[in-house]
Amino acid sequence: KFKPKPVEEKSPVDEYVNAPAFNDTLHVDNRANASFVILARNSDLDGAVRSIRDIEDRFNRRYRYPYVFLNEEPFSDNFKKRISVLTSAKVEFGLIPKEHWFQPDWIDEEKAKASRDKMVKDNIIYGGSVSYRNMCRFNSGFFFKHELLQKYRWYWRIEPDVHFHCDINFDPFLHMEKNNKVYAFTITMYEYEATIPTLWGHVHDFMKLHPEYVHPNNAMGFMSENGGEKFNLCHFWSNFEIADMDFWRGPAYTAFFEYLDKQGGFYYERWGDAPVHSIAAALFTSRDQLQFFNEIGYEHNPYTHCPKGGNRWEEGRCSCDPARSFDYDGYSCMSKWDRFMDLRW
Ligand code: GDP
Ligand code: MN
Repeated sequence: KFKPKPVEEKSPVDEYVNAPAFNDTLHVDNRANASFVILARNSDLDGAVRSIRDIEDRFNRRYRYPYVFLNEEPFSDNFKKRISVLTSAKVEFGLIPKEHWFQPDWIDEEKAKASRDKMVKDNIIYGGSVSYRNMCRFNSGFFFKHELLQKYRWYWRIEPDVHFHCDINFDPFLHMEKNNKVYAFTITMYEYEATIPTLWGHVHDFMKLHPEYVHPNNAMGFMSENGGEKFNLCHFWSNFEIADMDFWRGPAYTAFFEYLDKQGGFYYERWGDAPVHSIAAALFTSRDQLQFFNEIGYEHNPYTHCPKGGNRWEEGRCSCDPARSFDYDGYSCMSKWDRFMDLRW
């Protein structure tokens, strides 16, 4: 007797669309005046190798932007050798001048020590560390003054042991330049208040002294719920930064950093470069000059930004889990940013 052949069930695997083919086009003819900047210790070598492997794989093998590594101690030959083998781009290794790094003489060490001891007691992360404070002050006010960076306008800050989870199929530097952007981020969150108890007060004093630097279309509304009276602690996580060094080198930020530095809070408290950069970018530029790079899947332990909306995740062949993006974490300021900028995903 005739028995009809059973209809073959479609395998569920067929429902999924393969990622687009690898994009191997070289983009070295039309580039911005830009460099990667990596601050690292010799002991950060393995983590730095992993970060460079990631960014080369996902972006820079097609763009070949140069790298500048900075350290307050000379990089070892082994460090230089193991980094240089990873890329065909130019890599330079620089020594940070002492006066850009170490705690200045005019800081009252007794007072600084008392503050460190208290922060250790209060269990504040890096609370007892002087080198961490040197690093935060250097990243706030000095890296862009380094001689190896003078030839560049744009930089992309990379840290050891970070991850880039998606193909970056465009040039973020050129995007910034073409759209008149100043500062770009991928993750925004709340700062630990105990590290910056007096910072906002000094910001206020500075704004009163220099109202001419405060941009009429600033992003104060992102950082304060009451017109600037109280800081809501939202800031951009500066271990990822793509920004215009001409902004840090310009009159507003120069005056701002000098004013803050004089207050001694990098040592008497534990001011991070993240709130310092973020507040400056939010107040002294137009809000339209701040850029959220949704497309750039980025991880710095313990948080990951994974692209959201449209099919950006597929187009980026991303290795991150979009359901676990930090954007939706209670500790993230992303929803505040979206509301402030009137963004819909
Ligand atoms: P966290 O991200 O706030 O936990 O701080 P990290 O330990 O990652 O430090 C931030 C960046 O500064 C990283 O690129 C580190 O490699 C670098 N860094 C931190 N401390 C020092 C230091 O004492 N010397 C040098 N040369 N780099 C440092
Ligand atoms: Mn880090």
